[in-house]
Amino acid sequence: MARTPFELKRKSVFVAGHGGMVGSALVRRLASEEANLLTAARSELDLRDQAAVNAWFTANRPQVVFLAAAKVGGILANDLLRAEFLYDNLAISINVIQAAHANGCEKLMFCGSSCIYPRLAAQPLREDSLLTGPLEPTNEPYAIAKIAGVKMVEAYRSQYGDDFISVMPTNLYGSGDNYHPEYSHVVPALIRRFHEAKLSGATNVVVWGTGMPRREFLYVDDLADACIHLMKTYSSPELVNIGSGQDITIADLALAVAAAVGFRGEISFDTSRPDGTPRKLLDVSRLAKTGWQARISLEEGIRLAYQSYLDDINGQQQGMLVCPRGERQGGSSRA
Ligand code: GDP
Repeated sequence: MARTPFELKRKSVFVAGHGGMVGSALVRRLASEEANLLTAARSELDLRDQAAVNAWFTANRPQVVFLAAAKVGGILANDLLRAEFLYDNLAISINVIQAAHANGCEKLMFCGSSCIYPRLAAQPLREDSLLTGPLEPTNEPYAIAKIAGVKMVEAYRSQYGDDFISVMPTNLYGSGDNYHPEYSHVVPALIRRFHEAKLSGATNVVVWGTGMPRREFLYVDDLADACIHLMKTYSSPELVNIGSGQDITIADLALAVAAAVGFRGEISFDTSRPDGTPRKLLDVSRLAKTGWQARISLEEGIRLAYQSYLDDINGQQQGMLVCPRGERQGGSSRA
């Protein structure tokens, strides 16, 4: 499975989607690898544009690619923007993977998502449950695009011998997240809602759904660390799940966020909102065998995420933020 460690030192490393939550965490983590970092802002390179991607790869010839660019969002964004989630994510995957192949890239990592697994697959979700049953309808377009990316990586590996690998992160949160009130994922949505309720003195905060679904969460800097570890040590056609190995109900998550934010009112549940898939917990035994495990607890992660949210809104108030969260290419790996 693992060959001798793959070196990043002094290699040109392209982080596709460096402006997003995952990409920016990869950039932070790569700072200690002495790699020559390559990035391309959306204004200079639209990853959905095949000709532009080919031209950029021909000009820059990255030796290593982290494909962390994606159009991402929470349960509502996925459900409503179905065409965009399918088209954008398919286009980004096919363009970057083919261009990496055509330009002699030594190694590529494709970041997928835990939503690629069937809605009712046995928990915890094993990598080999892929394509064994129907997908969760609320995020089927995103999942189909990510499954296509996984299959491209597999096919390029088997037909051309490219050292391309796929990783499947669980639900992520942390610095650089999207805090849109409707289109974000649950952790940033609740951080914002509880914070605003605390400021306004509201006595009740509404959480979507029944509160009963279970989700696993991973702080994005833990994900970035796992990605670097796997880039260096893993080379195999089989996907690797990346998670914390622990899940929690949405109701308990809401209590944890309320406590971190300091909201002391009541919490109610809006059951007219979708629950989505009943449970999403990844089997992380393959990852554990490579010698990696998550380090940032959920409690610590929520504290860090809340602090980064406060920094963001303080920055916005001072006119420092130029790019509204959630409106950019490169977030990657919703779940
Ligand atoms: P999912 O894992 O694809 O379902 O992604 P989400 O992070 O969007 O949602 C996870 C769970 O949190 C679902 O059961 C949602 O119904 C629930 N949830 C509760 N409140 C919210 C909220 O304010 N925003 C979002 N996105 N989800 C929420």
